[in-house]
Amino acid sequence: MKTHARVVVIGGGVVGVSTLYHLARKGWTDVVLLERAELTAGSTWHAAGLLPLFNMSYTVGQLHKYSVDLYKKLPAETGQDVSFHVTGNLRLATCRDRMDEYQKYCGTANTIGVPFQIIGPSEVRDLWPLIDLGDDQDTPKIVGALYHPDDGHIAPADLTMALRKGARSRGAEIYEQTEVIGVKRTASGEWLVSTNKGDIVAEHVVCATGNYARQTGRLFGINVPSIPVEHQYIVYDESPELKTYRQNGGRELAVLRESDKSYYLREERMGWILGPYEAGAPARFADGVPDWFGKSLFEGDLDRLLPHVEAAMRRVPALATCGIKDIVNGPIAYTPDGSPLIGPAWGERNLWLNEGHSFGITAAGGSGWQLAEWIVEGEPGIDMAATDPRRFGPYTSKRYVVKKNEETYRNVFVIHFPDEERADARPAKTSPIYDKLARMGAVFGQRYGWERPNWFAPAGVEAKDRWSFRRSNYFEHVGNEAKRMRRDVGIIDLSPFTKHEVSGPGAESWLDGLVANKVPTKIGRIALCHALTPRGGIRSEFTITKLGDERFYVVSAGAAERYDGDYLRKMLPPDAAGRIELRNITTSRGCFVLAGPKSRAVLSALTDTALDNTAFPWLTGQIAEVGLAPDVYLMRVNFVGALGWELHFPIEYAHHLFDALLAAGADHGIGMVGMRAMESLRMEKSYRMWGTDLTPDYTPLEAGLDRFVRMNKGDFIGKEALAKQLAAGVPHRFITLEVHDVLDADPLGNEPIYDTGGRLVGRATSGYYGHVLGKSLAIGYVASACAQFGTSLQIEILGERRRATVLVDSPYDPQNQDLRA
Ligand SMILES: Cc1cc2nc3c(=O)[nH]c(=O)nc-3n(C[C@H](O)[C@H](O)[C@H](O)COP(=O)(O)OP(=O)(O)OC[C@H]3O[C@@H](n4cnc5c(N)ncnc54)[C@H](O)[C@@H]3O)c2cc1C
Repeated sequence: MKTHARVVVIGGGVVGVSTLYHLARKGWTDVVLLERAELTAGSTWHAAGLLPLFNMSYTVGQLHKYSVDLYKKLPAETGQDVSFHVTGNLRLATCRDRMDEYQKYCGTANTIGVPFQIIGPSEVRDLWPLIDLGDDQDTPKIVGALYHPDDGHIAPADLTMALRKGARSRGAEIYEQTEVIGVKRTASGEWLVSTNKGDIVAEHVVCATGNYARQTGRLFGINVPSIPVEHQYIVYDESPELKTYRQNGGRELAVLRESDKSYYLREERMGWILGPYEAGAPARFADGVPDWFGKSLFEGDLDRLLPHVEAAMRRVPALATCGIKDIVNGPIAYTPDGSPLIGPAWGERNLWLNEGHSFGITAAGGSGWQLAEWIVEGEPGIDMAATDPRRFGPYTSKRYVVKKNEETYRNVFVIHFPDEERADARPAKTSPIYDKLARMGAVFGQRYGWERPNWFAPAGVEAKDRWSFRRSNYFEHVGNEAKRMRRDVGIIDLSPFTKHEVSGPGAESWLDGLVANKVPTKIGRIALCHALTPRGGIRSEFTITKLGDERFYVVSAGAAERYDGDYLRKMLPPDAAGRIELRNITTSRGCFVLAGPKSRAVLSALTDTALDNTAFPWLTGQIAEVGLAPDVYLMRVNFVGALGWELHFPIEYAHHLFDALLAAGADHGIGMVGMRAMESLRMEKSYRMWGTDLTPDYTPLEAGLDRFVRMNKGDFIGKEALAKQLAAGVPHRFITLEVHDVLDADPLGNEPIYDTGGRLVGRATSGYYGHVLGKSLAIGYVASACAQFGTSLQIEILGERRRATVLVDSPYDPQNQDLRA
């Protein structure tokens, strides 16, 4: 075995081999893969080989598309057939919500260029002659279907071998029967990887160990939130009806998915493979895969599968006439949100994860492609936040992951409503006033483990969501919350915000080199600052307040605690000690937003700090006493575009401050405001949200954030790329759209935008109903030529093209008079 390599990939499943292949293809040929048994020995050998292009995520959708395209080309490149049967994929719908889901997906598919067709029942029958279209409660009538003509199924082992050939022909090396048993840092900062066959030193290590992800993570001291769940499929004997159909010249049937009954069905040697996603499938190996497991499978559990088998037999009567040959029950890696973990591990430099794949045959190509891009170029080519391992935090305890993964597994086929909030492993992380909020009617959602009120049910209204792709039961109540904030005053509990304190003589210049804006130099000033990628895309958004000499308070999105914290920590210079101190104080401070025209009156009853415009102007902060609470960072900023303050307080004062604010506001009409009203309010102000509207896919120039970019200050990451873009012309522009003729389905993000001639010109990144303006709104990016105020465009919402007009930025109060009031 070699003793040194640029990259060591641990794990010889399809994902590890694809990573190796893509590294070699990018020119890093001094790369090695170590596999404890033989290639495909993990989950890969027993996978059913389906390659569904369907995925609701903009990122994962792009990865799957790349894979399908790559797999078609691999045989010609490598000489190894991969048995890619391009049968197409047919997903049935038996209710309107399901059709809405497909139509929502189609918007995403259109933005990333995945071909699909929405078809009716008679076309379903033409494509799939052995189907029963249904007409009773047991076999509901098919109302339509989503058809992908370009995907199908593949032989996972052949695919792995083709990738292996492609990697080895470029110089990559693979060592089987070689188990990684330990790792250490060398004095030079490389990795010393110990195996049962000796040691190898590497600059980078990639973990692609499938079901072993947790124990591999433990070697590096990290808690990887991936635990496998049992997944079964049934292999049937030959089907006489299928045989007759094929012998009569019928083409191979498309992979069939009856989503409303949670199963897939495909042809296999004149018989069938039936794969349900059933309730009750247990998580396995939470403490690691035992040595004896190797290439074993679990005992099949037919009882669990039975309801799905019966549903499938009703839908495809030909199934009833064939016997069961085998049940394959294997571990399938899962994560709490069902998406894989692709990207840098937290805490350690040059440690990468390509783990947690539950559709790993489908995602292997795309994940290898982007991870290789990230390792070699220093950043991925597309926005990978949805799969970045740092989207999870320390809250992913073993029991949390077990519960969530079991829930995610049994929900693979549920309708993915945009406002869905799943119930398991909750509440986990709560703000101190959680119980009070619950008593006030809060309907909670969960983000980064935190419970956050989405809306508040008034007395007499059931505190429960009815999930939908359209306006739903909470529409009116969310509207009332938004209107209260514009008319009187409201409170939003934003305690989950990520909060760091940066101090020391080197703090200012270090922060300044990380962001495009100028870090505030005067005590009390606040600046919105963006950390960019080397290509100029937006990686993070920080609100930076200068609290004192050499002391900064850095606030970012609640869901970015690990993502931002890890970045900041890794960006500290080697000589930081004594010069720059970085502290994560997220959970030691709470945050209430107090906003609305009457917020000054409310707050002034609780503090001696002068709150008038001269003493406390917009975009400034002061440390104040509020009620009984000392050391409150009062910041005159907010995300709703109203007069108001954020109160960042020592967490132990949460109850006191909350009660005091409510009491002081009683005569001013104070009330609670949830996340959905905040969404409506920020849309009316064209405020861009990190993670959806602000991503590495767009530069701050495209995002219309030019005023937060100081090209004339010193160097910062991404500056060169911005200069190039300025010289070449900014290709896209951020816009706010009013959408016309909306009946009950507002844009929500990921809708394609067309010009009036029907040409795709951009995509919406968010959308909502602006309750105060009384307009349906979308924000997003279009080709620069289409971005002028007043331009007529079209936006596709649930399959319908709606007229839309480009509005001025910040259609509510464009002069920011409310903020400065
Ligand atoms: C029944 C079933 C059906 C499925 N059907 C489909 C499907 O139709 N389509 C689809 O896309 N996906 C499917 N999947 C999921 C798919 O199998 C996995 O997502 C995919 O195989 C994951 O590949 P991987 O390379 O990440 O992991 P694995 O294939 O599990 O490979 C990990 C490798 O790492 C090795 N390893 C672990 N620890 C070490 C160590 N310390 N040192 C060296 N080597 C180590 C293991 O031996 C193993 O070979 C199915 C899964 C199951 C269980």
